[in-house]
Amino acid sequence: MKSSVLPNPLMQITPRPDQVFVRGEGAYLFDEAGRRYLDWVQGWAVNGLGHSPAVVAAALAHQATQLINPGPAFYNQPALDLAAWLAAHSGFDQVFFANSGAEANEGAIKLARKWGRLHKGGASEIITFTNGFHGRTLATMAATGKPGWDTLFAPAVPGFVKATYNDLDSVRALIGPHTVAVMLEPIQGEAGVIPANTAFLQGLRSLCDEHALLLIVDEVQTGCGRTGSLFAHSAAGIAPDIMTLGKGIGGGVPLSALLAREAVCCFEYGDQGGTYCGNPLMCAAGLAVMQRIGEPGFLEHLNVMSAQMASGLRALSARFGLGEVRGRGMLLALVLSAPVGPDIVQRARDEGLLLNSPRPNLLRFMPALNTMPAEIEEGLVLLASVLAGLS
Ligand SMILES: *Cc1c(COP(=O)(O)O)cnc(C)c1O
Repeated sequence: MKSSVLPNPLMQITPRPDQVFVRGEGAYLFDEAGRRYLDWVQGWAVNGLGHSPAVVAAALAHQATQLINPGPAFYNQPALDLAAWLAAHSGFDQVFFANSGAEANEGAIKLARKWGRLHKGGASEIITFTNGFHGRTLATMAATGKPGWDTLFAPAVPGFVKATYNDLDSVRALIGPHTVAVMLEPIQGEAGVIPANTAFLQGLRSLCDEHALLLIVDEVQTGCGRTGSLFAHSAAGIAPDIMTLGKGIGGGVPLSALLAREAVCCFEYGDQGGTYCGNPLMCAAGLAVMQRIGEPGFLEHLNVMSAQMASGLRALSARFGLGEVRGRGMLLALVLSAPVGPDIVQRARDEGLLLNSPRPNLLRFMPALNTMPAEIEEGLVLLASVLAGLS
């Protein structure tokens, strides 16, 4: 396809393929030439119910006719309803809505720092992890453990130190009088779908209790059913103090949330806010998404599909001499034997399959949570033909 979209005035912040996408339906995206693509990226683990799901479209359409934006200093029913749903299903007591994962994480960082000022003698340092990812605002970039990000837009926001994931001693060694919290992803997504061990998560909870530190889980990618349970940390049986949600919660629209236990909620009037925070249009979509994910059988189906997909990927790994398959639910990764991820992504797109390669030596799979057996088979067949074409 010749490039019909360049030049254009959109800032070139990432290399984009030439396709212009015009329509989405469940597991599939369609470009302007009418070509169909099986989408295993789904907006980067965002569209839990696939593209343009009827329940979200209906919730948005209805809410748009009722009330779009009363402003964040007034109550609206969808925000109240979604907060109540989240509190009832998560073990957290209070919810603050925002518009992106990074913004929810900024809120978590602010809440921890405020709590440290009130209850821990001004402690403000947060322990985060090498290769962790928390967003692209200045503070969340500083919390992120991506190599080079500490100097990219220097000066970096201070107050973050990096421990080694799945290494409790490395966390213990960083705890000092200024430490206020430990913040991590239950599964490191951008790093390549690297799960935290159950023992590590439980050890972190004990360590935080021992030193009166807050445990913050960034579930922007792993939450809202993505890993086969409503929230990934529940699989380890731990109760964090603060959790952030993003991506999947809106099913494709900009919505995120900061959740906290009662004892941690110390924002005073004026400390936190935002023009669009908790607007009813997005909250109506979020409520439709979460109610659907919470329906009996939804996560059971997801976990059956996950097992089918993981076993198919393992078969491909054996056939083509590739590495391990890891992850949970609809967040899986296949380790490659060479740094050919970007090449595979491009060839797969030509075959009608959209893939993601967050690191050159691996592929990450994030299908819709409600994907069907035939779609998984179709994707595995397409992937097999791409892998065969490489050798
Ligand atoms: C995507 C992501 C973020 C950032 O979310 P945005 O909506 O892009 O700001 C933060 N944390 C994790 C774990 C993520 O995967």
